[in-house]
Amino acid sequence: MSELIEDLKLAMDRGDILVYYQPQYHAITKRLCGAEALARWRMEDGSIREPKEFIPELEDTFHICTLDWFIFEAVCKFIARRLREQLPMVPIAVNMSRQHIREMHVAGRMAEICDHYGIDHSYIEIELTESSYVESPDEMSLLVEAIHSKGFQVSIDDFGHGLSSLGFLGHIEADRLKLDQSLIQENCETERERVVLESILDCAHRLNVVTIAEGVETKEQLNFMRTAGCNLIQGFFFDPPLRELDFENRLETSLQQIFTEDILSIQSTAVAKQLLLDAVFTGYPLIIYANLTRNSFYMMNYENFTSQHCPSTGVFSELIEQGAATMHPEDRDLFKSTFRRESQIARYRAGAKSISVITRQCGDDGIYRRVNTTNYFVQNPHVDDVLVITLCQNLD
Ligand code: C2E
Ligand code: MG
Ligand code: MG
Repeated sequence: MSELIEDLKLAMDRGDILVYYQPQYHAITKRLCGAEALARWRMEDGSIREPKEFIPELEDTFHICTLDWFIFEAVCKFIARRLREQLPMVPIAVNMSRQHIREMHVAGRMAEICDHYGIDHSYIEIELTESSYVESPDEMSLLVEAIHSKGFQVSIDDFGHGLSSLGFLGHIEADRLKLDQSLIQENCETERERVVLESILDCAHRLNVVTIAEGVETKEQLNFMRTAGCNLIQGFFFDPPLRELDFENRLETSLQQIFTEDILSIQSTAVAKQLLLDAVFTGYPLIIYANLTRNSFYMMNYENFTSQHCPSTGVFSELIEQGAATMHPEDRDLFKSTFRRESQIARYRAGAKSISVITRQCGDDGIYRRVNTTNYFVQNPHVDDVLVITLCQNLD
């Protein structure tokens, strides 16, 4: 056994391996909503060794797993104590090295430890670094699947540290994407780089992945991440990694904070879009996107919209048939002739910006009510397809 691992085991026994907690804050409300557990090694003289001084060597051997399991259990113990004492608690993220792919029953062991301490699995989030996915994609997706199946959340750590590709987000069911500090520092400088960062955030959000900016140190970085729509913030601007007791004090004060800022002053596109959608859905409870050229559609359901699910998709011409069937018999021909794909495309080519009809629609209660259906022609710069957005408004 190497000297380091022997020292580590001794330090564990003596209680000199400590867990520091770095809080994570909601970008808009600045409320504390989670924390990351980070290992620290207390030396005999009381000084603290940082992970960069011992993690790389442990990573090179299998021994990093010993440390990870120790931290995992310490975090569970901590959460259990707070819950037992009925103190407020937030989910805690624990780092797990890629070396765990060489172990058996990783997810099962996590579940057993949590269950032993009687804490709900939703209190634990597992951080796996982006480079682990790049190096062992198949093993990693299996591990993520197993961890998920036990009810733990999964974060991709250090995104942007190396040669990043968002492609793997499509294959790995991650819940969170942690943007590496290097990405933030570089991307705050020029407009071009800002666009890249905003696109990464947008892509993650469309995949239902929560974004966290790591290493936010300045007010400028914070403001930029807020306006770019990043969900959560972790960094020295708010707090460094804190000793357990300091973190507990933070929990007491921060969870009581009330958001007092003018939401519009943030000038974030994400916030603005959400408000606009709220207003649009108040007037138009049903919105349909259709591609007339491809004969396809998807329906936007408001309740689900924020989670970005498109509940209903299908063939557009069949939708028109189905829609017509729910209408007053005298209105069906008008509806079908107006919204037939061919007639809509012809009107678009003739220069129409929108098409509108009022029909009587039968509700669940069997009563007919007037509905205004307006189709707005829209364009996407990348395709010539004829696209249309339908807004339906109840008039009675
Ligand atoms: P990480 O998981 O990416 O953790 C974030 C690191 O960024 C932490 O460094 C944190 O102190 C630092 N940090 C946070 N905010 C700021 C900021 O505003 N500015 C700057 N300059 N740095 C900031 P730390 O605690 O030294 O940990 C370094 C790395 O060591 C961690 O990076 C993680 O990969 C690894 N690590 C720490 N504890 C464990 C553990 O228990 N297991 C494993 N496998 N790895 C661990
Ligand atoms: Mg981490
Ligand atoms: Mg990181």
